[in-house]
Amino acid sequence: MPPSTDNRQFCAPAAVTVSPISYKDTLNLLETPFSMRANARSREPELQQFWQELRLYERLSQENPGPAFTLHDGPPYANGALHVGHALNKTLKDIINKFELMRGRRARFVPGWDCHGLPIELKVLQALSQGERRELSPIELRRKAHAYALEQVELQKKGFQRWGIWADWDSPYLTLQKDYEAAQIGVFGQMVLAGHIYRGLKPVHWSPSSRTALAEAELEYPDGHTSPSLFVAFEVLEPSAALAASLTAAGLTTENLQVAIWTTTPWTLPANLAVAVNDRLDYAICSDGQGRQLVVAAELIENLRQQLNLPLEALLTVKGAVLEGISYRHPLLDRSSPVVIGGEYITTEAGTGLVHTAPGHGVDDFNTGKKYQLPVLCPVDEAGNLTAEAGPFAGLNVLKDANGAIIEALREAGALLAEKPYEHRYPYDWRTKKPTIFRATEQWFASVEGFREQALAAIAAVEWLPASGRNRIEGMVKERGDWCISRQRTWGVPIPVFYERSSGEVLLNADTLSHIQALIAEHGSDVWWDRDEAELLPAPYAAEASRWRKGSDTMDVWFDSGSSWAGVLGGLQGGQPRAPQLQYPADLYLEGSDQHRGWFQSSLLTSVAVNGQAPYRRVLTHGFTLDEKGRKMSKSLGNVVDPAVIVEGGKNEKQEPAYGADVLRLWVSSVDYSADVPLGPGIIKQLGDVARKVRNTARYLLGNLHDFQPERDGVAINELPLLDRWMLQRTAQVIEEVTGYFESYEFYRFFQALQNFCVVDLSNFYLDIAKDRLYVSGATNFRRRSCQTVLALVVERLAGLIAPVLCHMAEDIWQNLPYPVAERSVFERGWPTAPAAWTAGLFAERVAISDVINLRSLVNRQLEACRSRAELGASLEAQIQLELGEGEAATALQSVLALLESSPHPEIDNLADWLLVSALELQQAGAPPLANPLAEASEAGITVRIARAPGEKCERCWHYETSIGQHAAHPSICSRCVAILADQDFS
Ligand SMILES: [Zn+2]
Repeated sequence: MPPSTDNRQFCAPAAVTVSPISYKDTLNLLETPFSMRANARSREPELQQFWQELRLYERLSQENPGPAFTLHDGPPYANGALHVGHALNKTLKDIINKFELMRGRRARFVPGWDCHGLPIELKVLQALSQGERRELSPIELRRKAHAYALEQVELQKKGFQRWGIWADWDSPYLTLQKDYEAAQIGVFGQMVLAGHIYRGLKPVHWSPSSRTALAEAELEYPDGHTSPSLFVAFEVLEPSAALAASLTAAGLTTENLQVAIWTTTPWTLPANLAVAVNDRLDYAICSDGQGRQLVVAAELIENLRQQLNLPLEALLTVKGAVLEGISYRHPLLDRSSPVVIGGEYITTEAGTGLVHTAPGHGVDDFNTGKKYQLPVLCPVDEAGNLTAEAGPFAGLNVLKDANGAIIEALREAGALLAEKPYEHRYPYDWRTKKPTIFRATEQWFASVEGFREQALAAIAAVEWLPASGRNRIEGMVKERGDWCISRQRTWGVPIPVFYERSSGEVLLNADTLSHIQALIAEHGSDVWWDRDEAELLPAPYAAEASRWRKGSDTMDVWFDSGSSWAGVLGGLQGGQPRAPQLQYPADLYLEGSDQHRGWFQSSLLTSVAVNGQAPYRRVLTHGFTLDEKGRKMSKSLGNVVDPAVIVEGGKNEKQEPAYGADVLRLWVSSVDYSADVPLGPGIIKQLGDVARKVRNTARYLLGNLHDFQPERDGVAINELPLLDRWMLQRTAQVIEEVTGYFESYEFYRFFQALQNFCVVDLSNFYLDIAKDRLYVSGATNFRRRSCQTVLALVVERLAGLIAPVLCHMAEDIWQNLPYPVAERSVFERGWPTAPAAWTAGLFAERVAISDVINLRSLVNRQLEACRSRAELGASLEAQIQLELGEGEAATALQSVLALLESSPHPEIDNLADWLLVSALELQQAGAPPLANPLAEASEAGITVRIARAPGEKCERCWHYETSIGQHAAHPSICSRCVAILADQDFS
C-alpha cells in the first residue's frame, strides 16, 4: 500500500495561483497498469490461461533440473460439491508443490479420485423408481455408477482448477481405471500368496426380509421401536481364583452365586458364549433377599433394586478384573461359558454392567470373542430362522416367535429376573422397512496379525508431522483386529475368487489371480460381471468351469485407495509409475488427521504386507474447518462457508463479494492447520484486507518503476546509500526466514512475515521515507535511481515469495514489471535468493536502523500529540531538536549519527529525512535547549523537542524552507526544487 501519510498521488498541492506551471506535473508520480483492485473474477482465469499456454506446470514438473518430489494425492470421494475442507487440503498440497517447483524440483502432482463404493451406488439407486431398481442388473448398475462418478470428477476438477491448483488434470488417477484396478488386484494377489488373506465369519447388519447384508447407509431408525428387555441370571459353576479368595476373605461362600445380565434381543441368548465385564468398573456381590448372591455393577444397585423389585444389599465390592475367569452355566442349553474382560463399551448407563456376549451377533461381542478365541456361533439362517445349533428353539424366527419361546423357557428355568418393554433406536432395512439383525456371515479378511510387527517398524521409520501423529497411528495399528476387506456390494473391484459349487471350497491361487488381473487390465473390472466362469477361469480350470461359482463380493473401498501406491506410484514389483517423475515411497502424504484411521493406515498395511515398507517417507496432517465460533459447519446452523462463494461471490455481492482464489489460498496459509481451523465471513474479510495491503505495496513498487531500466539506470549495490543497503539486507533476511517456513510447512509464519515485511518494513518505514526521493527528486537523479534500484530488486523477490500462496497476484506483478526480464513467468524465475553482497559486512547498519526506528516512534508520538492539539498538521511542518544524554540508547544513537555523517550520500542518509521533518538539529553540549517547544519528551537518555519549522511551505515538495521567495521565476518553491526544475527544463 502507499505510505500511510502520503496523499500526494491523489490530490494536487493547494494554491497554484502564482506560478505559471503546475508543480504537481513536475513530480514523478505513480504510473502502472497494475490496478489497485485484483478483479479476481476475470483476472485469475486469464492468468491461469496464460500458464496453460506456457505449459508452465508441465514443463517445470518434467524438465526442472532438480530431483523428483512426490506429494501423493489422497483421493477425495467422487461425490458432492467441494467444501472448505477440500480447499484446505488441496491448497496446502499446491503451496508445497509450487514451492518445490520454484526450487527446481520435478514436483509432479497426479490428482486422484476415489470412485467406487456405497454412496455412489446409493445415488444411482435413489434416482430410480422402485420398478426400475428391481429390473436393474448388476452390470447396468455398475455402468450407471461409472458414469455418475465421472460426472462428479469433472465437477470437482473444475473447482480445483479454479483455485489455481496445479496438477496433471488431463490424466488424473481414478480408482475405477483399468490399470488402477489391475494394480489393486496385484496388491490383493501378493497378500493372498503371502498368506495374509483368509475367509472367516463376522457379524454384519443383515436384513432377513431381503436376505442380504446391509451397510450403515442402508439402515433407517424409525421412532417407536420396542423390544422386550430381559434381566437374566446365569448360575456360576466355578468362581475365578481371585473372586474365590475375595469371597473367603470377606467370610462369604460361593453358594447360589449368579451373574446378572441384561438384553434387548432375547433371540441371541442361544448364541451366548460369554459374559463380558469392564475391568475398571466396580462390581458388587449382593444378597437379593431370596437366597441368591447376584453379581452386578456397584453403581447400578439402587437402580436395579427398583427394576428387579429385589432388596439388593452389597456384601462385597470387587474390580471387574477380579471376575475374569468365572465359569457359568447357560440357562437354556447344556454348556458352560466364561466371564471375560470386554472394553470401554461396557458402561453403567443401563442394564447390569455385565454384558451378554454372542460373538455371532454383535460387533463388540465379535471383537471381544476374538480376543478370547471364542467361536463365532451364529445359529440363525438367511431368513432369520434359528438353526439346529439353537437346540429346542430351532425353526423359530428371530423377528417373530423366537423371543416369546425363549422368555418362557427362561421363566421356567428360574433364570428370568425381570422382563420389561423397552423403546429404543433400532435399525430397519431402508428398502423393506422391516427390522434388521446382526448376523455373522462369511467375509474376507486381511490378517493384520501376520505383519503387525513389520507395520510398527515401518511406522517408526516414517517422519510424522506433527509428531503426535505417530502415537495415533501406532496405537491404532497395535490395537486393531483383522481387516474385513469384503463387501456385499456391486459397485467395486471384485474379490477374484471362485467357490466349488457343492463343497464351497475356495479357488484362489497364483494362476487364477494373474489371469484375472490380466483380464481386468484389458477390460476393467466389469469383466467379472460381464463374463461367466468359463471365460474368467484360466486353463485348466476353465475346462471344468461348471464346478465353480464366481464370488459376488467386492473389496472395501479402503482397499481401493489403500492400493494407490501400486496403482499410481508403481510400487509393485515390476510396476510402472503413472509418470516417470513419481516415486515410491512418496516423499509426502498430506491429509486430514482422521486419515490415521483411514488412508494413511490402509496404504501402510497394504504396502507393508506386500513390500515390507511404508509407502511414504513423511506424513503431514491437518485439522478440520470450523466456523468462526469454533463450531462444526452444518446446514442447520447456517454457518457453512462455500469456497465457491468466496472465490466467485454470492447472490448478494454487497454481503458476499468475490474475493478470488488468492484470498482463499491466503486463508489456508494463515491458519495453524495442525489443529482445527476457523473460517467465516469476518475472517475472509480480514484476509481480503491483508491481500489488498500486499497488492498495494506491490503496486507502489511497480508504479515508481515506470521509467526505470535496471541495466541503464541501476546503481551498483556497493554504491547504494545506507538506507537502501539496509532495505536489501532486510529483504535477504525475510527471504531466508520465509524459505525456512516453507521448508517446515509453517505457512502461517510466512503469512505473518509477509505482513510484517509489507506493512512495517516497506510501507511504514522505507517507502514512507522514500516518497521524497521518488516524487520530488529529478527523475534521473541518483537520489531517485538508487531508490528505484532497490524497488526493482525488492518487487521481483516479493513476487517470488508470495507465488506459492498468492500465485495469481505474483504472476500479475510479474506481468506488470515495467522493464524486460528474461523469464516469462514468475515461476520460471524460481525461488528468490539474495546475493551475498546484500548482507556482506552490514552489521552496523542493521543495528543503526533499528535505533532509528525506535527514535521514529518516539518522535511520531510527540508529533501526534501536537496534531491532536491542532498545533501542527503534516510532520514536515515540524523541526526537531535532539538532545543525547547518558544511557545505552543515547550512546547508540550517537554512533548512528556518526555513521550517517560518514555516508557519501548525505542527501539520502540524513536523520531529518528519515524522520520526515523539515529540519533537525542536535543540541550541542552546553547550548540552551530549544525555547518554547510544542512538545518535549525524554526516553532512555534521548530528549526530543518539537517546534514549528522555520520558513514557508514549498509548494512543490511541501518541506518548510527559509529559501522560499528567493527565486523570482518560482517564488513559491524552495531552492532545492528550483534547482531540480532547472535541471529538468520544465519551463
Ligand atoms: Zn521544495
